[in-house]
Amino acid sequence: MKILKFGGKSLSNGDGINKVVAIIANKINHGEKIAVVVSARGNATDELEEILGVAAKNGNYKALLETFKTEQKGDYPDVDLSEEFEALDKLFEGVSLIGDYSNKIKDQILSKGELLSAKLLSAILIKNSINARFTDSRELIKTDSKFGDAQPLEQVSKKNVVQYFKLHSDTVNIITGFIGSNNNNDATTLGRNGSNYTASLIANYLDAEELQNYTHVDGIYTANPELVPDAKKIDRLSFNEANEIANFGATILHAKTIIPLLEKNIPLRILNTFNHENQGTLITSKSNKEGIKTLSVLENVALVN
Ligand code: ASP
Ligand code: MG
Repeated sequence: MKILKFGGKSLSNGDGINKVVAIIANKINHGEKIAVVVSARGNATDELEEILGVAAKNGNYKALLETFKTEQKGDYPDVDLSEEFEALDKLFEGVSLIGDYSNKIKDQILSKGELLSAKLLSAILIKNSINARFTDSRELIKTDSKFGDAQPLEQVSKKNVVQYFKLHSDTVNIITGFIGSNNNNDATTLGRNGSNYTASLIANYLDAEELQNYTHVDGIYTANPELVPDAKKIDRLSFNEANEIANFGATILHAKTIIPLLEKNIPLRILNTFNHENQGTLITSKSNKEGIKTLSVLENVALVN
């Protein structure tokens, strides 16, 4: 089984979501066994945070919320997203009345981004005759109660995931990234960009053969292509090397995301949703050659020696 993870840009309206559907359909038609982890679509998480700020200051959040809903529906107005939308109406109204919110409420709100994304994608896949199943990771990934940066409880989460996949082995499970729940069943989030972490955990629990992380770039480069125009894509890296880049500020990899993969020796491939010919960057336990592979930059840092 391979785990595919799609980021927000990959899932955005128009080209993005259509490409994601095509990638999944293509793999299914080739008989591949896959499970899919999704982020919130586009900038949904940032937008929900923004609406939250406006609501807490008693501002006119309703117009923003309506725009958000329209964007989330995108080209699929008949997919039923009313459960999440109604919950958001109530949550934001509450925040606006009280003029404040807790981290617990914030996690409840942010979790809707991934729920909307997974629901929409499952519905589109089903319309395309793919046997997809919306999978709510709040029921699988149990965490502590540190809202906003919750820590997964490994044993029970693993048990839940393994059991779920045994029960639903004949479907393409479309799993919400980033979110879990505590022992009171309150929604929690695993920290920003946490969908990558969810994907690594699921890969670890299911002993996946590979984690394919679909982004909007071709892979890891010898330097940031925005700063260095002739930077080259790196075909292969080791986890050790990747971990160093993570510590030096690359947004694509985090140490905590790599650890579950390292533990089970699961290769990680960084791919581009928008460039299907590209083989991406493959990260495994072995390095293919010696020497410096890449440079990364930390901005606004002073080093005291
Ligand atoms: N949607 C969440 C965020 O933007 C999680 C993720 O994208 O990985 O931080
Ligand atoms: Mg995101």
